[in-house]
Amino acid sequence: MYHDNIFTRIIAGEIPCDKVYESEYTLAFKDIAPKAPTHILVIPKGKYVDFSDFTARASADEMTDFYRSVARVADEKLPGGHRIIINTAKDGGQEVPHFHAHILGGRTLGPKIVQE
Ligand code: 5GP
Repeated sequence: MYHDNIFTRIIAGEIPCDKVYESEYTLAFKDIAPKAPTHILVIPKGKYVDFSDFTARASADEMTDFYRSVARVADEKLPGGHRIIINTAKDGGQEVPHFHAHILGGRTLGPKIVQE
């Protein structure tokens, strides 16, 4: 179940963000604690907890807009390459319970997963 969180407040305009791109259904802004020279978060404006929730409940228009927005921002800001990450729940390391994709790049990125 969705509970309002920091991203709900960013969408509502109650908390500022460094906006990169906005469309009818989607918002992209810079991560407040960047893990790479370029670190952008892309979120749907609708209230979805995670990837599965978004995929199950969002309309076709919302989904198309979201995935095209991710691709557009990634290709425009990081034409030399990038990594797109979607964390889910506790084991996936998701901290904010509003579905989002991370777009990272601006340098050669390290290992995808640290070996145990
Ligand atoms: P998660 O760990 O849930 O996949 O990623 C959440 C991301 O949101 C983190 O990278 C964190 O730095 C970012 N974040 C948390 N609070 C804020 C905020 O208030 N503003 C912005 N721009 N990013 C935030």
